[in-house]
Amino acid sequence: MIKQQVEKIKERIRLAAQACGRNPETVRLVAVSKTVPADRVREAVASGVLLLGENYIQEAQDKISRLSDCAVSWHFIGHLQTNKAKYAVKLFDLIHTVDSFKLAAELDKQARKIAKIQDILIQVNIGEEASKSGASADEVQKLVKEISQLKNLSVKGLMTIPPFYDEPEKVRPYFTATRELRDRIKAAAIANIAMDELSMGMTGDFEAAIEEGATLVRIGTAIFGERS
Ligand SMILES: *Cc1c(COP(=O)(O)O)cnc(C)c1O
Repeated sequence: MIKQQVEKIKERIRLAAQACGRNPETVRLVAVSKTVPADRVREAVASGVLLLGENYIQEAQDKISRLSDCAVSWHFIGHLQTNKAKYAVKLFDLIHTVDSFKLAAELDKQARKIAKIQDILIQVNIGEEASKSGASADEVQKLVKEISQLKNLSVKGLMTIPPFYDEPEKVRPYFTATRELRDRIKAAAIANIAMDELSMGMTGDFEAAIEEGATLVRIGTAIFGERS
């Protein structure tokens, strides 16, 4: 039952936040619905999910139109190709995965066309993995500074997908490093940007992520079950 899973996850988020002295309301659940059919996503929404994360533009387009009657916010969490930017700005309230100035400039251009200020996060490849997208930690601050000049984008914080480990404690240092990077950029007080959001933590490690400062946890499997 999706409803029970959603309730269980919300309770675990609440407990993890309280355990480290954080207000549970500062941690928001993004239910990751990639590959999940619209009727099951609808069930999650009926169970109190407010934010949905999708990875693929075409799949999301279809699902969002099927669920257009639902009062939810859609987030893009997949790898975004520049040629899909125009769809992304139409569909999503927050794009978590901006990792280059080229992509940012295209999003800015497409957002301007529809008179939108597009909220984005900067994806950081905190483990410096060759196989993963994301800006390297060294270049993030410069990138944020450049993007801050783009009038139709609003940077809200950082997102990361750390290296995969079965044990959350092995992932924790990457969450810590992402928070510290966020804090350094925040301290630089760059005009026109906010650095309040930290999108990190998935089914296997979201409690550690919350303890390290996550404000958006992206959870798929624990809500919808294993993806085929
Ligand atoms: C699929 C996905 C998730 C959800 O992962 P689960 O382990 O199923 O919770 C989170 N973030 C991103 C970027 C994803 O692609």
